[in-house]
Amino acid sequence: SARIALFTRDLRIHDNPLLSGAGEVVPLFVLDPRLRDLSANRQRFLHQSLADLRTSLRQRGADLVIREGDPVAETVKLAREVDASTITMAGDVTGYAQRRERRLRDERLQVEIVPGVTVLPPGAVRPGGGGNSYRVFTPYFKSWEKAAWRKVTAAPDTITMPAGIAPGILPKTPDGESPDAIAGGETEARLRLRDWLKSLPQYGDEHDDMAADNTSRLSAYLRFGCLSPLELAMAAKSDDSPGAQAYLRQLCWRDFYYQVTAAFPRISTQAMRPAADQNWRYDDDALQHWKDGLTGVPIVDAGMRQLRAEGWMHNRARLITAAFLTKHLGIDWRPGLQWFFRWLLDGDVPNNSGNWQWTAGTGNDTRPYRRFNPIRQAQRFDAEGVYVRRYVPELKNVAGVAVHQPWRLPEPVRRGLDYPGPLESHRDEAVWLRG
Ligand code: FAD
Repeated sequence: SARIALFTRDLRIHDNPLLSGAGEVVPLFVLDPRLRDLSANRQRFLHQSLADLRTSLRQRGADLVIREGDPVAETVKLAREVDASTITMAGDVTGYAQRRERRLRDERLQVEIVPGVTVLPPGAVRPGGGGNSYRVFTPYFKSWEKAAWRKVTAAPDTITMPAGIAPGILPKTPDGESPDAIAGGETEARLRLRDWLKSLPQYGDEHDDMAADNTSRLSAYLRFGCLSPLELAMAAKSDDSPGAQAYLRQLCWRDFYYQVTAAFPRISTQAMRPAADQNWRYDDDALQHWKDGLTGVPIVDAGMRQLRAEGWMHNRARLITAAFLTKHLGIDWRPGLQWFFRWLLDGDVPNNSGNWQWTAGTGNDTRPYRRFNPIRQAQRFDAEGVYVRRYVPELKNVAGVAVHQPWRLPEPVRRGLDYPGPLESHRDEAVWLRG
């Protein structure tokens, strides 16, 4: 009988082990109503990715069946309808994914797990001293790089699907809230991939320069699986330029947090080191200023506004804004994480939570008390103030690096700006504010 290929976050036909194997398949995606809590641009990205996948499957003689509702209930219903006893799906690590898999097995369906969400499946390499997951990145990177990776699989030419299954409709795409957000889908992803591979050797030195904007910006395609992380990692591995090697290391961070999450699925709500998770403040007003990009610290506000405008934020800006919330305002990392999750096109549980815990100092980290001086960061990574002026129009007439400390401008100039003074610090020494 046919098997169901349940797509989740692997919305592609290239290098998708879900589609390997013989026999008839019923490709399925279930829209969980809970997805509607996400920002409209994120839903739009998902819908575009689904529409593109559907086109590719139709070109190969199949279709994408789309259902709306509880993913487990809908999958079971379709399995009964088409008399399928096997569900193939990609292995995933979050609490949500683990529950979904368990519930499917409880329905006495055969669940076949295939790789594809990460380069190496979590648990494929394990630390020497025992334990299921690596807590420290560098030793993980060393084993990850040396491990035997599976081979990239080609996109199938044809896919056989039983006839007579109602494909279902893709609901109307919600209007994007962020006009500058990129478009979803594997076709778009592969065009960008081709361009990116040409610039790979130049990655490295400049990837921290916020204004230069020289990173791949492929993270959302990885998030929805429009691109195979393995395919990207293989391309980087086969290029020995320092840029490609630096990029490979970044990609490994993604796998690193997946294996951390597999071992600690409550990563988005529970601190990995509970002792460091104390004395947070709950200040709705300050939190709202942070969300709106109105903290009065330009580099922070620029990042927060880029998030809303593009559904993406430069990694350096993510570090600065997250540190500002937790270390400067002293506010709990969880509401910050949720705000990022709602707006980021690439927002996912392992990377978002792993990085937030790292920044807040609650994660598996060797340096939990690290401090971030936002002004020094700004002067170093936005040396001319170009990034700030791009996203904070109130400051567009303040030339050069002076834009990072508007509170130091002469009084008459400062009064002429429609821009707030900096929010008070509650945790950090904040010497930088007095300077
Ligand atoms: P590039 O610089 O081109 O990097 C290549 C790839 O490596 C990325 O696409 C990504 O898959 C991976 N990568 C790079 N840095 C990291 C990192 N620190 N951790 C994990 N993977 C990394 N990334 C997400 O994909 N989803 C998130 O929800 C997310 N939330 C974050 C929250 C905070 C507070 C911080 C500090 C970082 C977060 N990151 C997250 C990591 C990183 O900022 C983004 O992956 C990166 O900015 C994506 O842009 P890019 O594709 O141009 O990156």
